[in-house]
Amino acid sequence: MFNYIVVGAGFAGSVIAERIAKQLNKKVLIIEKRNHIGGNCYDERIENILIHKYGPHLFHTDEKQVWDYLNNFGEWDIYHHRVLAFIDGKKVPIPFNFNTLYEVFSNELAKRLEKKLLENYKYNSKIPILELKKSDDKDLKFLADFIYEKIFVNYTAKQWGMKPEEIDNAVTARVPVFIGKDDRYFNNKYQGVPKDGYTKLFQNMLNHPNIKIMLNTNFKEVMQIDQKTKKIYFLNQEFKGKLIFTGMIDELFDYRFGELPYRSVDMKFETIEKEYFQEAATVNYPNDYDFTRITEFKHIHPVKSEKSVILKEFPQQYIKNKNTPYYPIFTEENQEKYNKYLEFSYNFKNIVLVGRLAEYRYYDMDDIVKRALEVFEEKINE
Ligand code: UDP
Repeated sequence: MFNYIVVGAGFAGSVIAERIAKQLNKKVLIIEKRNHIGGNCYDERIENILIHKYGPHLFHTDEKQVWDYLNNFGEWDIYHHRVLAFIDGKKVPIPFNFNTLYEVFSNELAKRLEKKLLENYKYNSKIPILELKKSDDKDLKFLADFIYEKIFVNYTAKQWGMKPEEIDNAVTARVPVFIGKDDRYFNNKYQGVPKDGYTKLFQNMLNHPNIKIMLNTNFKEVMQIDQKTKKIYFLNQEFKGKLIFTGMIDELFDYRFGELPYRSVDMKFETIEKEYFQEAATVNYPNDYDFTRITEFKHIHPVKSEKSVILKEFPQQYIKNKNTPYYPIFTEENQEKYNKYLEFSYNFKNIVLVGRLAEYRYYDMDDIVKRALEVFEEKINE
């Protein structure tokens, strides 16, 4: 009936399904365990305010091809994300940049540090905190220690249960120190949010007669992966088509090499009886409270309302079947375990792995759209 089965209706699965349906004009079945499409991008309205159910999703990319592709499925609003961090009783812009410098230090000290930074780094460059920390200049060392202590160490402890050095350097490098005055969270060429929300965008993407969607279904309910014979069954019949799997690779192979650790987040939404709660879309709380950040969605999707909706994110350990695996945890040990799964997957000629969970990578939305388009060309449109 189907030559293609996609597990998971997030960006990875939906882009590939859309390409199969439109480009190849072939039928494709999507199996999704949640009761909705869109994966963690899913949004819905509370009090007529569009909220991101699984945490703030701000789209940003330098890839014109990705931006153009996504613009096929609805209009986008221009949106530049700004984040403040609550430090020593003050809300200051992050990524840490020259504006932050002048807000946290006296004019005189800020000037000296700014001069030092400009003598050592290029204007408008980005320096990961762990790199700045290696500086042997006295002033820069002081600055690096300040930023590390006030912005990174406690936030990372909450978010990952680890020190910044214990996790892959790329994680804290996502929020580098910025040698300049741009205080946007991202400085990519294309930035925005879908005008009518991500869910609508996914609906437009998947609205095609070649695409069938099975919601509320764990793939294990309808598929068997025989690890001995390397055969795949769909509704008890051998499936010889392509299985595009975007879920957890350890679950796919029945945890044969043990569970891969993930980090989860408890998302707590609150309705506020005020027009606005805070001055920016997101305020990070590195050192105070048990949540990492508060996001107020009206700043992202503006709407006239006497009320506002905020989200507090409480990171927590991922526990199988209890909460949601949001982030792979990047340590060498975990990467080795993942590699065992990846190697084992090569025995299955018709399984294609794509996405944050299946590839155990910290993909952003644009990365995953790009990756899915590439995988489609390389492994599916053969
Ligand atoms: N980070 C931090 N303090 C901050 C913001 C970020 O220590 O105020 C670190 C933290 O380790 C976090 C990582 O940088 O996990 C990446 O942050 P980002 O905002 O990109 O995380 P995401 O939005 O993907 O959860």
